[in-house]
Amino acid sequence: MDWILFGPPGCGKGTQAERLCAEMGLFHFSTGDVLRDNVARGTELGRQADAIMKRGDLVPDALVIAMVRDKIQSPAVAAQAGVLFDGFPRTIPQAEALEKVLAELGRRLGAVLSLEVPDAEIIERLMKRGRADDTLDTVRARLEVYQRQTAPLIDFYRARGALVALNGVGTIEEVTARLRAATQRTRP
Ligand code: AMP
Repeated sequence: MDWILFGPPGCGKGTQAERLCAEMGLFHFSTGDVLRDNVARGTELGRQADAIMKRGDLVPDALVIAMVRDKIQSPAVAAQAGVLFDGFPRTIPQAEALEKVLAELGRRLGAVLSLEVPDAEIIERLMKRGRADDTLDTVRARLEVYQRQTAPLIDFYRARGALVALNGVGTIEEVTARLRAATQRTRP
């Protein structure tokens, strides 16, 4: 079964995704990590994504969807119990494409685990993280992009009965425990 870990930038998705994947034997699919790896290796995709990521904008849907289609059919994914998507989907077209790909491949989505963290705390966390795209301007841009393009996915998945909203504030262990409990409630 596949899962989506959803939430605003800085809500702790990356940290939580690593922990859940280790526990549940899932493939951690962070589109941000794959894009950063492409930038570091200087691939064509990396060259196209670099400036966009530095601005805090979204990489075009077509590029991201092609990347997901490719990766989800890889042996590394086949070797795991499922996939945990981290940072994907980020737009309605990406969510629609994901539904299509999962259906084509006979894969099932367990739930969209949505981590809720207040804005003020998010800015503080992002500024502390110090990644290359974590300047104050970029952080503001990413939060705006999130509100405009990504937050609508909450209604998209709620309408499908797939959304599980969880409190993202607390210690790393506390949040992991909430996520774990939510996956256990969702299991068939
Ligand atoms: P993240 O590591 O998830 O915070 O992503 C870092 C940056 O990579 C984002 O600000 C976007 O520029 C780009 N990115 C990652 N995932 C996606 C996605 N699903 N769609 C578009 N852009 C993405």
